[in-house]
Amino acid sequence: MSENERIRKIIEILRKEKKNWDVPVVSLMAQTGSDPFKILVSTVLSLRTKDKVTEEASNRLFQVVKSPEDLLKLTEEEISNLIYPVGFYRRKAKSLKEIAKILVEKYGGKVPSTIEELLKLPGVGRKTANLVVTLGFGKPGICVDTHVHRIMNRLGYVKTKTPEETEFALREKLPKEYWIEINELLVALGQHICHPTSPKCSQCPISGLCPKVGVKRRR
Ligand code: SF4
Repeated sequence: MSENERIRKIIEILRKEKKNWDVPVVSLMAQTGSDPFKILVSTVLSLRTKDKVTEEASNRLFQVVKSPEDLLKLTEEEISNLIYPVGFYRRKAKSLKEIAKILVEKYGGKVPSTIEELLKLPGVGRKTANLVVTLGFGKPGICVDTHVHRIMNRLGYVKTKTPEETEFALREKLPKEYWIEINELLVALGQHICHPTSPKCSQCPISGLCPKVGVKRRR
C-alpha cells in the first residue's frame, strides 16, 4: 500500500470515529461560527489547559469581549479574573492585552490572516498561527501540536524530533486536502486512545495501519 493510500484510509476511519469522541474545543468553536478573533483568543487560552476549562473561560470572556477594542478596554487584572483558572492565566492576560493593542493600532482591529504576521503577536506560536489561518480564514495550514507530532511519528509517516519539524515534514508530504482537518482528527485520537504513555492500541481503530514506531508500552 502506498503512503498516500495508507493516510487516506487512516483519515477515512478517523472521520467516522470522531463522531464518538469529544471534538477539540477550538474546532468546536469554529464549527459554531466563531470569528478569527475568537479563534485566536481561545487558542491562546487553550495552551497548557484542559479543553473544558478553556471552553468555560472563553465563554466567560466572550460575554464581555466581542472585539479587540473591547479587550483593550479591560485591565490585565480584569482579564485574569475572567479567564482564571486557565494555565498561566496572568501571563496570558498580559499577552491578550498586548495582542489587542497591536490589533487595534496596527491592523485596524482585525486579525491578520498570514502565519508570518500572526507569529509577530506576543504569545502566538506556530500552533496558534496555523489554527487561526486554517479555522479562522479557511486557508491552508497544518496545526501541529504534541498530539499530531506524537501520532504522526508513531504512524511512521514522519520521523521528526519537534512539532515544528513535523509541520514542515507534513507540508512536504501530506496531501493538501487533509491539512486543515488533520489536527482535529489526531487531537481527538490522542486524547481518547493514542495517549503519550501507554496508548490503547488494542482499542485503536487504525491499529492495523500503524507500525507503532517507538511505542514501548501499550494496552
Ligand atoms: S495503534 Fe497505538 S500507536 Fe498507533 S495510532 Fe493507535 S494507539 Fe497510537
